Amino acid sequence: MSYVEVENITKRFDDVVAVDDVSFTADKGEFVSLLGPSGCGKTTTLRMIAGLEMPSEGTIRIDGEDVTDRPAYEREIGMVFQHYALFPHKTVGENIGFPLKMRGVPEAERRERVADVLERVRLPDVADRSPEDLSGGQQQRVALARALVFEPDVLLMDEPLSALDRVLREQMRVEVERIQREFGITTIYVTHDQAEAFAMSDRVAVLDDGHLSQQGRPLDIYENPDSEFVANFIGQSSQLSGQVSSGDGAPVLATDSGMTFELPQSTASTPGDRLSVFLRAEKLNVSRTPTDAVNEFPAEITTTNYLGEKTQFFCRLDDGTEVIVAKHGFTDVENFEPGDVVYVSVPPENLVVARD
Ligand code: ADP
Ligand code: MG
Repeated sequence: MSYVEVENITKRFDDVVAVDDVSFTADKGEFVSLLGPSGCGKTTTLRMIAGLEMPSEGTIRIDGEDVTDRPAYEREIGMVFQHYALFPHKTVGENIGFPLKMRGVPEAERRERVADVLERVRLPDVADRSPEDLSGGQQQRVALARALVFEPDVLLMDEPLSALDRVLREQMRVEVERIQREFGITTIYVTHDQAEAFAMSDRVAVLDDGHLSQQGRPLDIYENPDSEFVANFIGQSSQLSGQVSSGDGAPVLATDSGMTFELPQSTASTPGDRLSVFLRAEKLNVSRTPTDAVNEFPAEITTTNYLGEKTQFFCRLDDGTEVIVAKHGFTDVENFEPGDVVYVSVPPENLVVARD
């Protein structure tokens, strides 16, 4: 039994189905992200777990107890939002102490617990300040402290870092994860940012237009996406679809555009199946001369993008497919330029395969 169990929940707003038969779990102390594009139902799912929205169908259990019909104030859940939702006219200490006040905790104890939680989010000495005097990152720590101070069963966060600029956002990822581990609190984190979800989470649940596509460890989702949607949404790749035929040993995919790929040995398929292969940018090789590798294709470079930590080469294969090859630590030895003819190859085991 998992600590949080979301079972077949659906939410309809009139004729909009915002969440459609979604199930996933979070174990005690686990960090689970809900990842998906804007409008796919992440916030609605989180609000149902919080009790701010009632599911049209389905069940939510926390620690084995059915909480589906319980109002928000009867669930012990801490929440952090994108816009910190701090009271501007209360001090930081009053903001953080508010959930304790609501629970009837006496003032002296409140003050002690606020000081303690501020220490743990590494923001001591600000209890008497106004939230408006703090930076965005500091305000988000205050919001986190307020969500944690009453020792809730579950912490829910809805895109909490998306208002911060990139460098601070990356620092706060590490910080939020550290705080979550230290408190050992079961966390469900909503984001549309794959890197954020991957960096922080034990497991990720990918949502697509109200449906749950896949839940798994970041590595499993990246290497073995179980649908076309997940393969396209995660990572940078080009998709080629076609039909499986039998090769000598390894299965082969004949693409609709007329190319032939040797598939990984492990591909579960029979001749005639329709599959897609995804060419991940960092799993491709590019060379000036043919290397006799399996799955090697002549291509023309159309664009090069030097991005610092990596360089991208946009290449057009003979069938017209655009693929992107990404190389790290590129030192312009090869000096590829638009118009150059090159050879792009992908070892079969580097292909990501998903059903159409
Ligand atoms: P996300 O957080 O992934 O961007 P939301 O859960 O906010 O997605 O929204 C999912 C879908 O439900 C969207 O189509 C949105 O317009 C719709 N929706 C959300 N809340 C309401 C509401 N209160 N009334 C009507 N439609 C809503
Ligand atoms: Mg949202």
